[in-house]
Amino acid sequence: MSDVQIYAGIDIGGTNIKFGLFDAEGKILYREQRPTMAEKGPTPLLHLITNIAERLMYHAAEENYSVRWIGVGSPGAVDHRTGRVIGPCPNIEGWQGTEIAAAMRERLNMPVFVDNDVNSMALAETRFGAAMGARSVVCVTVGTGVGGGVIIDGKVVHGANSSAGELGHMTIEVDGPLCACGNHGCIESFCSSQAIINRTRTKLKNGMSDIFRTVLDGSLDNLTIKKIFAAARKGDQTANEVVIETGRYLGVGLSGIVNLLNPEVVVIGGGITDGGAGFVGAVNEEIKRRAFTSATENLTVTKAALGNDAGFMGAGLLGEVNQ
Ligand SMILES: [Zn+2]
Repeated sequence: MSDVQIYAGIDIGGTNIKFGLFDAEGKILYREQRPTMAEKGPTPLLHLITNIAERLMYHAAEENYSVRWIGVGSPGAVDHRTGRVIGPCPNIEGWQGTEIAAAMRERLNMPVFVDNDVNSMALAETRFGAAMGARSVVCVTVGTGVGGGVIIDGKVVHGANSSAGELGHMTIEVDGPLCACGNHGCIESFCSSQAIINRTRTKLKNGMSDIFRTVLDGSLDNLTIKKIFAAARKGDQTANEVVIETGRYLGVGLSGIVNLLNPEVVVIGGGITDGGAGFVGAVNEEIKRRAFTSATENLTVTKAALGNDAGFMGAGLLGEVNQ
């Protein structure tokens, strides 16, 4: 009996590394996660992901599966041709400049492909998830930051220097709030968790509902993004206003992207999708209010479908698309 070909992927997050094995239909055969321990620096992290890759190979061999390459999704801009981190990566100290593919290849003696984490997620959602079957897809994640990945004609758009797709840093207000990137008025400066917390705090200074009082034990000091989303799900008006507002800000930026690229599907993932049903609807309405009808009449705006599995699944597919 010849071995069945399957895929192995590793998704490096700021907090956890998620990894697993899956087959050509997207069925997950094995999945696990480990803390990233980003504070320990790049060398221990490289050892950890190399060990994880070996563990995945071992599990595959045990079940008589064959894996032809290891795929890795990393935060920050990654040169997908060399597997080197070329952009800054605030969550992992010292990660910029790390030769992920070269270091892993040397120890594993097999092909290793690396790309940006949101590019990987976009690939997985296009192959197995919310944008299944689409050829042109824009994927956005809204959480601590706002990330993006663009697929055109089934391929990840990397641009001239592997820096394409950073749609979180598109300016939507000339003199808007200072963004983590140093620019002003980026989408991220309105839609990041911190931006949502700041706007909610301002609104709640004028008084809070019974729902918020319960969720926060009566104190604004307890305000976190999770508590805001919990209040929104319980039907709190202020929390829902903030979620909808955030959706409108994202929609303003995405309407430009939709006019530019005319995608079939816009996929929205990340923590924001825990904030209740209103967010994706608000993004959709704002895009359709602003972009050309010709660009939106066949457009679907939808929540990501693969959740935490998208990153490692997309990474596992990299060897097919980035060769
Ligand atoms: Zn920015």
